[in-house]
Amino acid sequence: MNNSLHLRGHHLICLQFYKGLGYDASFVKNLNRVVKAWEKTPALIVEGPDMVCKSCPYLEGEKCALSDKIDQKDLLALNLLKVQLGVLIEKQTVKNKLYEIWEVWKEKACKDCLWNEVCSEEVKTKTKHKRSF
Ligand code: SF4
Repeated sequence: MNNSLHLRGHHLICLQFYKGLGYDASFVKNLNRVVKAWEKTPALIVEGPDMVCKSCPYLEGEKCALSDKIDQKDLLALNLLKVQLGVLIEKQTVKNKLYEIWEVWKEKACKDCLWNEVCSEEVKTKTKHKRSF
């Protein structure tokens, strides 16, 4: 994979809630760069490890050692967002779809996620007041 901006399915959704936290300093440094770049440039949707994973301590070869459900979450994200691999997508486009996909994503993807608490306060407030993300 080259250095152009590329993201796997579940990161399209999860990065919308990024708050500067991560597994270690180099992961966070890379993630800051990726999130900033995605504000300006559309990201290519890819399968498997992406620009976020490349600095992750849990990446082992082509596999995520943190969870065996990551590929399923990628697929779920693509299905909910109605997008396909190999397509370019803007951060705002995903953001605009969050409200309509939120209930299913929360139920199926967030439940067993390590970062659930980090995202949940923002989500609770916005869904309670029916505000867009
Ligand atoms: S935990 Fe897994 S999916 Fe998440 S960034 Fe690391 S390798 Fe990628």
